[in-house]
Amino acid sequence: MKLKRIAATTIAAMALMACSAGSGAGTARADAPQERAAAPADSFSADTAYALVVAQTDMGPRTPGSEAGARCAGWIASRLRAAGADTVEMQRGSMRRWDGQVLPVCNVLASFNSGAPRRVLLVAHYDTRPWADMEADPARRMQPIPGANDGASGVAVILEIARCIGRTAPRAGVDVLLVDAEDSGYSEEIEPGLNPGNDTWCLGTQMWAERDPYATGVKPAYAILLDMVGGAGAQFHREQFSDVAAARVVDKIWAEAAALGYGSTFVNSRGGAVVDDHIYVNRAGIPAADIIENMNPATGTFPPTWHTHDDNAANIDRTTLERVGKTVLSLIYKEK
Ligand SMILES: [Zn+2]
Repeated sequence: MKLKRIAATTIAAMALMACSAGSGAGTARADAPQERAAAPADSFSADTAYALVVAQTDMGPRTPGSEAGARCAGWIASRLRAAGADTVEMQRGSMRRWDGQVLPVCNVLASFNSGAPRRVLLVAHYDTRPWADMEADPARRMQPIPGANDGASGVAVILEIARCIGRTAPRAGVDVLLVDAEDSGYSEEIEPGLNPGNDTWCLGTQMWAERDPYATGVKPAYAILLDMVGGAGAQFHREQFSDVAAARVVDKIWAEAAALGYGSTFVNSRGGAVVDDHIYVNRAGIPAADIIENMNPATGTFPPTWHTHDDNAANIDRTTLERVGKTVLSLIYKEK
């Protein structure tokens, strides 16, 4: 994903494109009395989530079309089946990258409690960036990154949530979308001078959206995207596109985190605007919020490991994974 520095008018225009049913002004009331989370959210294991990050980075970079990427997709599918998903599907196709290369794309879709009328969609990308654009050493910029935070962290948290809901079923249904080819987008550092626009990112989610995923079946009430949710000491601010298209979803997540005592991690103030998979989920008519570290104090944007070779498992923080996982899981158990 990439950070956008854009005018408020652009954000408003994007909000109009996002035919969101869930948009509405409002701020999370972190101090409001909240029902304490149901105990099942405590079943989320930070150690298991961390091990699931390591399992992915051990495969090597999961760039689109790579052998490691295919192995990761198969591993994700088998974990979802083992967790008890009603359906697991590999959605295959191809998408054209900004430089003309055609990428094979394989998204992994799953559904838990598929008959439930109220549903939540969880989204993350499992692919990793083919380049280390932000690496200090220019000689290493064209090498793929490990993608422990940028990719593996979101997948790990969702797979651990899947294990938990497979053991103790929530009343709501949960759909899972783990996409390929999010992170092959254009950047100036790779090839200066092109201006191909924002749609060079999130190719897997664009392919999913183009196929009208809920033409039949129950459309989820909302979606939560997890991206870079494992940084050391990470703080999550309200991402701007989420706030415009799905403010009520952002409110719910941040209020749930506050109720769990994670208010210092989920900071209830405006963060950056990020081009990420949630934009296309919103355009598909599902209000979607992005949990992403986008105001790191050292950089002002993403964490310092972003798109570098330091985005490895050693820089993943179990506490961050746990706080995100328990917040989302607790929210899921409250849905009915
Ligand atoms: Zn990225």
